[in-house]
Amino acid sequence: MRVFVVLLLLVSLSFAAEKPNESKTNPQIAEVVKEISAKNIEAIDRKLVSFGTRHTLSDATSETRGIGAARRWIQSEFERYSKESGGRLQVTMDEFTAQPGPRVPAPAQLVNVVATLPGAQPESRDRIYVVSGHYDSRVTDIMNSTADAPGANDDGSGTSAVMEMARVMSKYNWDATIVFMAVPGEEQGLLGSTHWAQMAKEKNWNIAGMLDNDIIGSSHGDDGTVDDKHVRLFAEGVPPVKGEMPDALRTLVQTGGENDSTARELARFIKTTAEKYVSGMTVNVIYRRDRYLRGGDHSPFLDAGFPAVRFTEPNEDFRHQHQDLREEHGVKYGDLPEFCDYNYIAQVARINAVALGALASAPAAPQDVKVATKELTNSTTFQWRANTEPDLAGYEIVWRDTTAPFWEHIQNIDNVTQYTFPKLSKDNVLFGVCAVDKDGNVSPAVYPAPLR
Ligand SMILES: [Zn+2]
Repeated sequence: MRVFVVLLLLVSLSFAAEKPNESKTNPQIAEVVKEISAKNIEAIDRKLVSFGTRHTLSDATSETRGIGAARRWIQSEFERYSKESGGRLQVTMDEFTAQPGPRVPAPAQLVNVVATLPGAQPESRDRIYVVSGHYDSRVTDIMNSTADAPGANDDGSGTSAVMEMARVMSKYNWDATIVFMAVPGEEQGLLGSTHWAQMAKEKNWNIAGMLDNDIIGSSHGDDGTVDDKHVRLFAEGVPPVKGEMPDALRTLVQTGGENDSTARELARFIKTTAEKYVSGMTVNVIYRRDRYLRGGDHSPFLDAGFPAVRFTEPNEDFRHQHQDLREEHGVKYGDLPEFCDYNYIAQVARINAVALGALASAPAAPQDVKVATKELTNSTTFQWRANTEPDLAGYEIVWRDTTAPFWEHIQNIDNVTQYTFPKLSKDNVLFGVCAVDKDGNVSPAVYPAPLR
């Protein structure tokens, strides 16, 4: 017994570490959480439904029905939020021609509605976080562009959450840039998000995180389960690359880092940060790109090499997705507002807003993080490139057992670019390095590559 106690004491002394998730709270983020309104989200969602159908190939010229009317209304709302925020939000219509494909019979004009909130810190302005929902909708036949397709949940829920976040968050300054995006063409093959992600890649933009919100609207599953306390967050490990595996990916797998892709570090960050601010909500991180045989607008971002994750409600009701409006044996089919839970959508919007606010307040995740491996030793030495933010306080090194899903220990360190753990071996745990600013805002962790 005594030996055990002494051992425990020794272990805790040698780690000299606090538990993660005990960092300071940011008052601006707490304000945002309070201001996000379920009422506003419901009003936005019902307005989107009022356009009858938002099928990507529906009438784009009518003022009252179809995808054109819907996107012009989203644009006008973003512009109103911009006015209310003193012109901070920059609204653009990113128009492009979708070429014919399996779900597009003839060239079609598609428009991403994009509201950009530029970062307030010059050193961080080029660092971009994207949050998106898709505003197109569908019924049973994917090519049916005329039938009523309310899309209240898929994906009026994600679109209205993104719009409400833009309204609230644009009133505040954040160090890094946040892009609020409503995209079309998801149901026709992720067309809007693919166009934007490819453009970002070609322009070499630093997309440091992308949050996709798709089907976040209901707390009721089709088996009667009711759960308004959880949201699923899909986060990919090693991407399914075709052909030759890139070197960086091979190194990740070689060192047992297959669970430490940038998407998973982003998911860990979102879970620990969001649960601190949104009480009663749990983020269920799922180590998978998406549900079986399904995809979403985060996929093109992952394929472009950006960290991207997807939020979805915990229990789907497939009677209310991709269905013609009808009644069969007393069962109502269709994606209608009556099946949405607007308080739940607001909670998921708050989780997103916390994550975005925390990411955009924190310094960039450290770059060129390396762990020394030249000499055989049981100590562990890290080095990284110095961050450039003027409000940088220093760094944190986090670690966990190789079988643990989330960070278990944390070591605060000064504003240095090298650190050694004399008694903690890189061979036995998984490490990550984070940057911290003077207000206690912490970046996501970076998995170290071996320095040979
Ligand atoms: Zn969807």
